[in-house]
Amino acid sequence: MQAVLVDQLRKANRRITVQRMQVFEGVKGLDSHPSALEVFEAVKPRLPSISLATVYRNLHILRLEGLLREIHCDRGITRFDSNLSEHYHFHCTSCQRVSDVPSYSREIERSFSEKTGLHISGHHLTFQGLCNDCLKVEPSR
Ligand SMILES: [Zn+2]
Ligand SMILES: [Zn+2]
Repeated sequence: MQAVLVDQLRKANRRITVQRMQVFEGVKGLDSHPSALEVFEAVKPRLPSISLATVYRNLHILRLEGLLREIHCDRGITRFDSNLSEHYHFHCTSCQRVSDVPSYSREIERSFSEKTGLHISGHHLTFQGLCNDCLKVEPSR
C-alpha cells in the first residue's frame, strides 16, 4: 500500500477503496501518462468488476486531492501523471507516447513576468517529435 496515498486520502476524508488504490497504482505503473481508458484496461485484469465510470470517478478524486496531475499534450486527450514534480513532456507524434522531460525553467517565468507585468504561477511545455523507438522504424524522418 502507498503510505502517502492512504495518508492523503484519510486527511481529505476520502474512503480508501480497493478501486481507488488500483486506479492510482494503474497510473503509477504506466509511465506513459495513461488516459482514463488505458488506466481502465490496466486495472481490469486485477479488478474484473470495475467499470470505466468508476475509473473516471476515482481519477477525478485523486486529482482533486493532488495525488495525480492531469495533462493535455495531444488532441484533447486527457492523460494522468503521478509525477507531481515540475517537469516538461515529450509527445511522440507517431506512437503517441508521452514521456517525462526532467527539466523546468523558472527563468522563462521570470523574464515573461518582467516583460508583461503578469503574475506567473507556473507553465506547461510539451515537446513534440519522434521517440527513439519510432526513429528506428522511420529512419528517413
Ligand atoms: Zn514513438
Ligand atoms: Zn509527466
